[in-house]
Amino acid sequence: MKPTIYRWRPTTCNCEIYEYKDENGVFSYITPEEAEQFLVQIYNQYPETTKKPEQWNKQKKPTKRCPEHASLLNDSQLGNVMIDEDRRKSGVLRALLGHEGFSLNLHDTKTNADGTSYIDFKNGISVSWQWTGLGTERILQMGVTGANLTTNQKNTLQNFCNTKFGVTKVVVL
Ligand SMILES: [Zn+2]
Repeated sequence: MKPTIYRWRPTTCNCEIYEYKDENGVFSYITPEEAEQFLVQIYNQYPETTKKPEQWNKQKKPTKRCPEHASLLNDSQLGNVMIDEDRRKSGVLRALLGHEGFSLNLHDTKTNADGTSYIDFKNGISVSWQWTGLGTERILQMGVTGANLTTNQKNTLQNFCNTKFGVTKVVVL
C-alpha cells in the first residue's frame, strides 16, 4: 500500500508530531526532516497520487513540543507517550459513558436529526480534565461536573482505571 504521513495533534497537550505509516502498515513517529525525505520517496513511487514535494515544503512546519513533554528524548518516545495519554483519556471517557461493563448513570441515549441514536452525557453533565507531572510521568486527573458521584461510584471508576492503565496513571477527583 502507499505509505502515508500526517501531522497529529492530540487533545491531551499542545504537541504536534508526524506519524508515518509504511507500505506494510507499520506506524512510527518521525522528525520533520525524515518526513520530508519520506515524502520525496513516496512522490517518486506514486507521482500520480502524491502532492509534489515543492508544494508540500510550503506547508512544512517543525514538530512542536509542549513544555510538559520538552524533556522527552526524541519524536518516537514522544509519539508513544502521546498515544498512551490519549488512550487513558478516551478510555476514561468510554467508562463514563457506560461502555466498559458498568454504569455510573451519567449517560443517556440521544437522537440525531436523521433519527439515528447515540450515547452522550445527560444534559448538564460534563467532565473536567487536568494533567499534572512531566515527560513520561504525566498523571490524568478527572472529575465529573453536574452530577455528584457517590463514594462507591468513584471507587468503581478508580478501580477500573487502576486495572486498565496502572496505579497512579489516572486519579478520579
Ligand atoms: Zn505534549
